[in-house]
Amino acid sequence: MASPSYVSTRGRSPLTDFAGTVINGIAPDGGLFAPSTWPRLNLDDLTADGADYATLAERLLTPFVGEGLPAGALAAAARRVQARFSHPDVVPLVELEPGLHVLELFHGPTAAFKDLAMQLVAGMAESLLAETGERLLLVTATSGDTGAAAVNAFAGAERIDLVVLHPLDRVSPMQRLQMTTSGASNVLNLAVRGDFDDCQRLLKRLLSETGKTKTTRRVSSVNSINWARLSGQAPYYAATAAKLAEPATYVVPTGNFGDAFAGWVARQCGLPIGDLVAATNRNDALVRALHTGVYERTQAEPTASVSMDVQAPSNFERLVFEATGRDADLTRGLFEDFNKAGRVTLPGEVLAALRREMSAVSISEAETVAEMQRTWRENGRVICPHTAVALHAARRIERTGPVVALSTAHPAKFPDSVEAALGFAPERPSQLQGLEGRAERFETVDATLEAVLAAIG
Ligand SMILES: *Cc1c(COP(=O)(O)O)cnc(C)c1O
Repeated sequence: MASPSYVSTRGRSPLTDFAGTVINGIAPDGGLFAPSTWPRLNLDDLTADGADYATLAERLLTPFVGEGLPAGALAAAARRVQARFSHPDVVPLVELEPGLHVLELFHGPTAAFKDLAMQLVAGMAESLLAETGERLLLVTATSGDTGAAAVNAFAGAERIDLVVLHPLDRVSPMQRLQMTTSGASNVLNLAVRGDFDDCQRLLKRLLSETGKTKTTRRVSSVNSINWARLSGQAPYYAATAAKLAEPATYVVPTGNFGDAFAGWVARQCGLPIGDLVAATNRNDALVRALHTGVYERTQAEPTASVSMDVQAPSNFERLVFEATGRDADLTRGLFEDFNKAGRVTLPGEVLAALRREMSAVSISEAETVAEMQRTWRENGRVICPHTAVALHAARRIERTGPVVALSTAHPAKFPDSVEAALGFAPERPSQLQGLEGRAERFETVDATLEAVLAAIG
């Protein structure tokens, strides 16, 4: 099979192949990688011969990868994902009430949906580096879940060093323990004296000033702008579509917009996916953009659904690129203006096109708590605040077909929120037990590039 090529949403980067998107993360012109054409997928082909999750994922991703990975690497990475999930179905679909479903994406090693794509990318990256003999320095900024998933996926990887920047005292104790107790010598945790935005700013500077590290290693990132990570989320939409008799509406709890965009990718490639709804907490830049046409960044406010406290969802650029009819000059202009001014007005025809693809709704803190209580009372289920945002939005939809709310984390990752809403602490699954007993390792640094570089060495 020929290798598919990847373009940048900003149009000023050379074409690259799938391996290039895995290793570089972001396009050199500051844009995001997108396949130059969308492949056609057929659900019957993906699920033929009783395919399990790994087989379905491999088949779905094959046209995106082409010959861009060593032979057998994609299949091995997909097997690894399945092996590290504790549920036989990997991503079980639970029907709460007739026509209302919850898609459980949290049965992986760190109990959040980020494991699905992170384990896949770790498998791919290890195969690529084994072939080229290179070493990679991966840096990631996290408000909690990404760091935990990355540490679990990359701990012990032979050719990869992982640096995780988290804001000091601003991640939950459970999230910190998941990052700092791996004991792996290739993982460095830095607690930054600042907030999550400081961590993201430092990450961007590190990526653009690699020359200053005393190393010849390549530097990259595994944040959700990485195409390989994003595409690794499309298989669970296909697996869910295969279980339902008709196309469902999917309600996705949204932060950086990677998960919701993966649903769009599945639909764009011809899979039977119905409407897509992005549900945010009160950090609602995306909702305002789709309602008013003005995309504007404000200060992120803390909420119970912490992993969605994002003020400028990076992957929105991908949907805008598509909504402009893939006009890279227009997309570049819009996002360069946004980066400078923190605000941009979307042209009328782009806004109309965006609204045909996706809708968005913001859920308040009070509604989030009320949903956690209602789901416990009426359905006997304990859910995390992120899931509650999606489920609350899902219940508002008038059901003419199935509705699926994505459940992105196990409630035991957020015991304080659950206890505040329900009056008791959630039961911990086995992967979250025993963390307190282990030795923690992290360094505390100032929020400056110099301090981070000194720590990395
Ligand atoms: C990261 C995360 C989200 C948001 O996903 P995006 O792809 O960034 O939109 C939602 N819920 C949980 C639990 C997360 O960790």
